[in-house]
Amino acid sequence: MSSDTRLLMAVRVVVVTTLLLAALIIQYTVAEVLPLNYLYTTAGVTFALTLVYIALAMTVPSRSINLAVQVAGDLVIETLLVYFTGGLDSPFSFLYLVSVITASTLLYRRGGLLAAAGASIGYGVLVDLMYYGVLPMPEQSMFLPTAWSASRLYINMGANFAGFYATALLTSFLSEKLKRASAELDVNRQNLAELRALNQNVIESIPSGLITITPQSIASFINPAGAAILEAQPLAILGRPITELGFFTTEEWAEARERLDQGRVVRNEIHDAEVAGHQRSIGFAVSPLTTLEGMSAGYTLIFQDLTEMKKLEAELRLKDRMAAVGELSAGIAHEIRNPLAAIAGSVQILKNSKSLSQQEQRLMSIVLKESERLNKSISDFLRFVRPQEKKPIAFDVAASLSETLDLLANSSELNERHAIQREIAPPSFPLVGDADLIRQVFWNIARNAMQAMPNGGVLTVRTQVDNGSYKIVFADNGRGMSHADIQRLFQPFRTNFPSGTGLGMAISYRIVQEHGGRIEVASTEGVGTAITVALPVN
Ligand code: ADP
Ligand code: MG
Repeated sequence: MSSDTRLLMAVRVVVVTTLLLAALIIQYTVAEVLPLNYLYTTAGVTFALTLVYIALAMTVPSRSINLAVQVAGDLVIETLLVYFTGGLDSPFSFLYLVSVITASTLLYRRGGLLAAAGASIGYGVLVDLMYYGVLPMPEQSMFLPTAWSASRLYINMGANFAGFYATALLTSFLSEKLKRASAELDVNRQNLAELRALNQNVIESIPSGLITITPQSIASFINPAGAAILEAQPLAILGRPITELGFFTTEEWAEARERLDQGRVVRNEIHDAEVAGHQRSIGFAVSPLTTLEGMSAGYTLIFQDLTEMKKLEAELRLKDRMAAVGELSAGIAHEIRNPLAAIAGSVQILKNSKSLSQQEQRLMSIVLKESERLNKSISDFLRFVRPQEKKPIAFDVAASLSETLDLLANSSELNERHAIQREIAPPSFPLVGDADLIRQVFWNIARNAMQAMPNGGVLTVRTQVDNGSYKIVFADNGRGMSHADIQRLFQPFRTNFPSGTGLGMAISYRIVQEHGGRIEVASTEGVGTAITVALPVN
């Protein structure tokens, strides 16, 4: 049952019952006997019809049919009432208007016009039948009967009909307008809700950080990605001045605002941003935020964590550079080798000549010895720069590490003030790779650590296995490296050690990379260095 069907029934029952009670009270309090029987009849018919409406509403779901039947029933009751109260003389003909208005409001123009037609027919037929004496005049009329003339009959009917139709047209016009307006409002409300949800989703799901800044330079909103990049709770960001968030100093922000207020976008990258204790690279752009009306509403700050990207970029650049340098130096080394062989061969022949003095013989020997040494250096160098094809086999990486450290402990790199502390557990660990090359890496890194501690110190070598990689940490308490030194650590021919070539770390990097691993560096100037080699476990 629709709500207006029910409401209409309830209103009708309440009105009729009130009327009935009033009549009863009057009947028993006023001495003279009023002709009120017709009221009881009307009320009885109304109640009976109400039962019919309920039954209909329970069997026929259509709202308009239910309403139409009720309005029709009301018209019948109204006609009855008008008849009992004197037809043309009845003051109750206005009740038709109530039905016309009800129909116009609930069923719009068609319902209103049909109700007006129904009322006109009911009223017209009734008064005509009464006028021509087909229907007898009711006996109990409370109202004094007047003389009915034909002209009065037609004027009365005409006025009433005009009233019915005018009311129907006006009321249905207004209610249709109301219906359209409320439908439009619904659509707008729906659109607005959808738009808001979309905005919300976009902001919550973009991987970039987003902070909105009020015209007073206070952070007023941060999205989840933003909070994740800054490793902070949103509440720790909101309400704080933008200059406290690490993107701008006070002066930089003043400068940026000047540009923003000219409608420009401010972009920047910071490479030493402190985020929750570690350094990150963050790229960001600030732009003016305007409302739909074009008013300034502050600024938006969009930012991204570029740390990983920068790292990859640096690795790529390094790889490129190493490849180029490697090719070039290998070429030069070859070019030296051929003339060197010719020189050595010629000197060998000269040396065999019998006419040479003792002194000359000795000089020739030096030339030969030195060219041999040079040749060996070149061979070593070539082996480093153009490492031989790696031959992966299963080998014990922990044992290789221990052997390399044994070798170092017995080499001239160590003196009595040096110590090597080993924390190698488990003592045996299988990996697949080129054992000779990996040993070379260990040697290079451990030897650097010794060279970084010319006045003595401890090299701690620790191993650990975690999420799919075997890690070896070489930690020394030597002189450490500056930020710039760390950046250049893997670049070939950069050396700070007295007898260095600057190739050790470059070659190590290449070998580890060819094994699918990584080298990480942590170093503080004057404190020490920790180099971690991570090799994939397969
Ligand atoms: P080389 O040992 O021939 O100088 P490397 O490539 O092995 O070349 O090292 C390059 C440079 O990196 C070194 O000259 C030194 O300045 C720096 N370095 C490497 N390891 C360390 C360390 N453990 N502590 C301090 N500086 C280091
Ligand atoms: Mg070295």
